Amino acid sequence: SQWTGVQVRKTFLDFFAERGHNVVPSSSVVPHNDPTLLFTNAGMNQFKPIFLGTIGKTEDMAQLKRAVDTQKCIRAGGKHNDLDDVGKDSYHHTFFEMLGNWSFGDYFKKEAIAWSWELLTKVYGLDPQRLYVTYFEGSPDLGLEPDLEAKNLWLEVGVPEDHIIPGNMKDNFWEMGDQGPCGPCSEIHYDKVGGGRNAAHLVNMDDPLVVEVWNIVFIQFDRQADKSLKSLPAKHIDTGMGFERLVSALQDKTSNYATDIFTPLFAKIQEVTGAREYTDKYGKDDVDGIDTAYRVIADHIRLLSFAIADGAAPNNVGRGYVVRRVLRRGARYARKYFNAEIGTFFSRILPALVEQMGEQFPELVKKQTDIKEILDEEEVAFAVTLDRGEKQFEKYAALAIKSGKKKLSGADVWRLYDTFGFPEDLTKLMAEERGLTIDEAEVNEAREKAREASKAVKESVQEFAKLNVHQIAELETSLNIPRPTSDAKF
Ligand code: ATP
Ligand code: MG
Ligand code: MG
Ligand code: MG
Repeated sequence: SQWTGVQVRKTFLDFFAERGHNVVPSSSVVPHNDPTLLFTNAGMNQFKPIFLGTIGKTEDMAQLKRAVDTQKCIRAGGKHNDLDDVGKDSYHHTFFEMLGNWSFGDYFKKEAIAWSWELLTKVYGLDPQRLYVTYFEGSPDLGLEPDLEAKNLWLEVGVPEDHIIPGNMKDNFWEMGDQGPCGPCSEIHYDKVGGGRNAAHLVNMDDPLVVEVWNIVFIQFDRQADKSLKSLPAKHIDTGMGFERLVSALQDKTSNYATDIFTPLFAKIQEVTGAREYTDKYGKDDVDGIDTAYRVIADHIRLLSFAIADGAAPNNVGRGYVVRRVLRRGARYARKYFNAEIGTFFSRILPALVEQMGEQFPELVKKQTDIKEILDEEEVAFAVTLDRGEKQFEKYAALAIKSGKKKLSGADVWRLYDTFGFPEDLTKLMAEERGLTIDEAEVNEAREKAREASKAVKESVQEFAKLNVHQIAELETSLNIPRPTSDAKF
C-alpha cells in the first residue's frame, strides 16, 4: 500500500492537531522522576500528575486540555513484561511506539469514539468489516454498570452490532493502581485475514491474526481507599495505539516485522552477518531459527539504543539489568544463529536504526557515539564468558537429558548466572531449545543458598579484620600457613 511508517505517524499527529490537540514530545523512556516505574510503559505515564491532580499550577502541562503524541515505550520486566514473546510472535516488541490522544477534563466518550473511527476508516481507509470494538460489560459484584454509553456511541458511528463485543474487568476496565483515576475502556481489534469472515469470537483470544490495535480509556472514576468508586468531576480520555501494529494493518502485512519499520534493520543485519534473507516465518515454520533471530535482534537493538540514549546503562540492578539481559540475549542469538563475532555486533546494526528513526527521535543522533561505546563495552565483557558459558550449559543440559530429567536444576541455572553471566531468561530460552524446563522455586533456593554462603564469608572476613597481629600469627600457625620471609616480593 502507499502508507509508509513515517506517513502513518505524521497522519496521526496531524489528525488530532487539526482537532485542537497540542503535539507534545515523547517523554524519556527512562522515567527519571518516577521511581515506581522500571521503564515508561505507556503514553499516560508522563501525564500521571495531571490525572492524579498533583500537577503544579506553574508547570507547562497544567495548561494542557488536549494533547497528542507518540510515546517511546519499553515492556521488558516489571508489570508489563513482553520479553518472552519477542521473536516468537508477530506483534509484541520490547520497545515500541504508542500513539495517543488525550483529553484532560475536556472532551469525553463521544468525541473520542467518533474520532478514532473516523481516523481508522476514513483517513487511513481501513476496512470497517475487519474492525471490532469492545466495551465494558459491567461487574454486578463490584456494583459497576455495563458501559452502554460507549456501546451506543459505537453503534452511532456505524459499527455493525455483531462487531461490538462485551469485555470483562481484565480487558475493559483500566486502573492506574489500587487507588486513583480509573474507568472502563474500549479496545479496537483488527482482523488481518478479512475476506468477509466474522472474527468476533477471536477477539481477546490472543489470536495472532486478530490483534488489539487501540485502547481507549474513559477515565471517569476515582477509586477510594475503601475501594468504592467516586465519580470524577473532570473526566479524561487516555488512548494508546500500537504504532507498529497500525502500520502492519495499513501495509497489509500479517506481521509487524514485515513492515518498513523493520525491513531496513533486517537488511543491515544481513549485510553485517551475510545471513540468508528474512522470510517472516514463525515457530516450527522457521526451520533454522534464523527468522526468529532476525526479529529478536531487530527488536533488541531498538530497546538498547533508546534506553541508553535516555540514560540507562547496563548493570546488575533494576533498569540496568534489563538492558544487560536484553543485550546478552541478543548477543547469544547473533552468535548462535548468525555465527556473528560478539564484541561490536550491535553497534554495527546501530547506524541503520539511527538512519531510520533519527529524524523523529533526534536523541539517537545526538547520543550515537555514547550508545556505540556502551554497547561495545558491554558486549566485549560478555564475549569473554559467552563461549565458556555455552559449553557449560551444554554439559548441564546433556547430563539432565541423559538422566532422563526434563528439567535443568536450579543450581545449574544459578551457576550459569553467577559464574558465566547468563541471565535467567537467557538460560531459560536455551533450555527450551533443548526441551528442558526450569523450576523457579529451585532457582530461588539456589540463589538463597548462595546469598547465605556469601553472608557467611563476609562475616568471617569481618571477624578476621578484628584480629590483632598476634592473633593472626596464631591463626596462621594453627592453619599451617607459611610466614612470608623477609625478602618476599609483593
Ligand atoms: P496486548 O493485549 O496485545 O498485550 P495490551 O492490552 O497489553 O496489548 P495496552 O496496555 O492496552 O496493551 O497498550 C495500548 C496499545 O499498545 C495496545 O493496544 C497495542 O496496540 C500496543 N502494545 C501493547 N504492548 C505492545 C508491545 N509489547 N509491542 C507492540 N505494541 C504493543
Ligand atoms: Mg500486553
Ligand atoms: Mg490487551
Ligand atoms: Mg489493552
